[in-house]
Amino acid sequence: MTFSPKATKCMACGAAIFFCRTKNSERMPVEFEPNPNGNLAVTPQADGLPEAVVVRPGQAAGMRDAGLLTYISHFAACPMADEFRRKARHKQTVDTYRRKATQSKGNR
Ligand SMILES: [Zn+2]
Repeated sequence: MTFSPKATKCMACGAAIFFCRTKNSERMPVEFEPNPNGNLAVTPQADGLPEAVVVRPGQAAGMRDAGLLTYISHFAACPMADEFRRKARHKQTVDTYRRKATQSKGNR
């Protein structure tokens, strides 16, 4: 059986994600693409909302050896994740992008 989560887009950064149920949350955003260093085991559920369980690195490696996919939380990867939590860090991210944009213009 192939696992095909329903893709959606992060409202903050537009990345492809899907939602999972976890022990602590009804809806956690997970990166749509499986991650070779992932720490989440995702299991499809009958009601369509997959269940994500955090596994230890050793377990995750064992899963990948067995041909299973591991995923990461989008909160770990989203450049705008801090917007949800801390405004200060978000401002820093924006400043970094601005600096990069200025640099690439200067190189031309
Ligand atoms: Zn995002």
